[in-house]
Amino acid sequence: MSHGAMNLAGPVRVVSESYYPEAFLGIYQRPAEARAMFEARGWNTVAALQLRNPMHNAHAYLARIAMEVCDGIYVHQLIGKLKAGDIPADVRVKAIAVLMNKYFRKERVIQGGYPMEMRYAGPREALLHAVFRQNYGCSHLIVGRDHAGVGDTYGPYDAQKIFHEIPPGALLLKPLPLDWAFYCYECGGMASMKTCPHDSQAVIDDQGNYKGGARLMLSGTLLRKLLSEGKPVPKEFSKPEVMTVLREYYDKPRTKPEVQHPGTARN
Ligand SMILES: [Zn+2]
Repeated sequence: MSHGAMNLAGPVRVVSESYYPEAFLGIYQRPAEARAMFEARGWNTVAALQLRNPMHNAHAYLARIAMEVCDGIYVHQLIGKLKAGDIPADVRVKAIAVLMNKYFRKERVIQGGYPMEMRYAGPREALLHAVFRQNYGCSHLIVGRDHAGVGDTYGPYDAQKIFHEIPPGALLLKPLPLDWAFYCYECGGMASMKTCPHDSQAVIDDQGNYKGGARLMLSGTLLRKLLSEGKPVPKEFSKPEVMTVLREYYDKPRTKPEVQHPGTARN
């Protein structure tokens, strides 16, 4: 980067943290607080998992991969405003908590919230996500396929490639590039594009029943439809405790969101 004739320096003061500290008590952490928690647990390496959705089995699989190579996982979700059809942050927090409490080692995972909205800026947003996770003391960021993408705007691996395009040493945090994860009925477990040789998509009817095929990639639209109609969601997609939280939300008529979705945003 070229430098101009002038540099500005001085203490940085936060003017307002808005409603986040009160509304997300125990979830909203400042960078120094997150760093202190990592240190108290003795974590040297911490992988951040960026989330803007409830944590389904595919996200949990990515978290487990990262846990195998890092000391801890920081499930760091965005708790800013949403687009129509998204699940509100307080419901997501609860859904993530029930999954973490039952299926993860408590001493190796922390849930946190960051007061920002998704930009759907693909690779550039992946870098932004990396910068603030570095500030939080994370050593790694899980960067999935089409991280922060929407529709077909970006190439599936653009958000992973951009980490090789920035100047060496510009970022201390390292990306943990992982591929799209899913349940495969042929593999008989969670798998990814990198590991699963079965190309066919699993077919789920509008009653939530498995009809055949291999890879289970429930679209957000079908998931919301099944939930809002009270129909079963394949157990391979998400843990029952997560589904219970989401059903409670969808069963409330006043808060029932629209099923319409502007695109197939992922991660
Ligand atoms: Zn497979």
